[in-house]
Amino acid sequence: MKNYALALIPGDGIGVDVTDAAMKVMQAAAARFGFGLTLETFPWSCNYYHETGAMMPEDGIETLRGFDAVFLGAVGWPETVPDSVSLHGLLLPIRKAFNQYANIRPHRLLNGVEGPLKASGFDILCIRENTEGEYSGAGGRVHQGKGNEVAVETSVFTREGVERILRFGFEQARSRRKHLTSVTKSNAQKYSMVFWDEVTRELATEYSDVTVSHMHIDAMAAKMVMAPEQLDVVVASNLFGDILTDLGAAIQGGLGFAASANINPDRSSPSMFEPVHGSAPDIAGKNIANPIAAIWSGAMMLDHLGETDAANAVLAAIELATAQGIGIRPGLHSTDQITTAILGALEK
Ligand code: NAD
Repeated sequence: MKNYALALIPGDGIGVDVTDAAMKVMQAAAARFGFGLTLETFPWSCNYYHETGAMMPEDGIETLRGFDAVFLGAVGWPETVPDSVSLHGLLLPIRKAFNQYANIRPHRLLNGVEGPLKASGFDILCIRENTEGEYSGAGGRVHQGKGNEVAVETSVFTREGVERILRFGFEQARSRRKHLTSVTKSNAQKYSMVFWDEVTRELATEYSDVTVSHMHIDAMAAKMVMAPEQLDVVVASNLFGDILTDLGAAIQGGLGFAASANINPDRSSPSMFEPVHGSAPDIAGKNIANPIAAIWSGAMMLDHLGETDAANAVLAAIELATAQGIGIRPGLHSTDQITTAILGALEK
């Protein structure tokens, strides 16, 4: 029997609740489809930061390297730890160290879920560059706290980084409806984004079966509201992808439905799976967080591990539950009720 070793980082707030829910469903899927999941939980979080002065131990990355995949809930507790510290102390280092350069986020309405738009037939795959760009962490501050203080933060776009994320997007488009939209702001950002556009045009010649559109981020934001059904695969930089996928979450009914995978496509190190949402301090500990985004992220993990039937069954179980109205609106059902409904549907 195949067995997969999973590293779990529940993190903070509702990250703990949704990770627990997702792992119940993953274990049920493993039992049904005849493979094993061995889970090891790591307490790395803002609490851990309070206890140790770091978001994870110095050898944290090396510890995770031996696992088949990492599953993360959410990280951040802004009341006690600045978000810049928690994000740069855990999530971003993992994405960079493991070269998880493709952050994949699907946006579509699950059966039974009503979004805020009239449009309902959209099916968008957002692919966000995940290791460089605006989140490269290159910069600094001088004269801190003084009147002449200066803060500089530089975006870093390398040919390797831009080419590989676009190539990944073209491949995804090939396996879907063969349309790729590359999102930049090359009218205003005349070096990095013009460079991105050039690389897109170069690669487009290799993928002549894929239709390519170029859009500026502002126009894209409007399009995702006005005509989302015209979009297929969308590729964007780290910051633009981050923002657009919260918009994607909104049009698919809310952050409780937005799943994501941080993929290392060459599989030289583990990939990481996590819902798009954060730790939601406003609802933490109330058993009302929607676990669907986390469970869907778990399905993406199973798919990545090669357990495609199990992945499809989990997604089908989510939609069996939502088709019956379970979890389709905030506060309608508890985290436990939604999880139980999905577990029940998985047995059918
Ligand atoms: P958030 O995603 O935590 O919450 C935004 C809003 O959406 C809140 O009103 C919340 O209640 C709601 N929400 C989110 N997930 C939900 C779910 N599963 N079910 C029901 N409602 C849900 O974003 P935020 O408030 O901007 O950030 C809170 C903390 O999380 C911050 O520390 C932030 O840095 C961190 N954060 C972490 C990640 C991550 O770990 N990947 C992502 C985003 C934010």
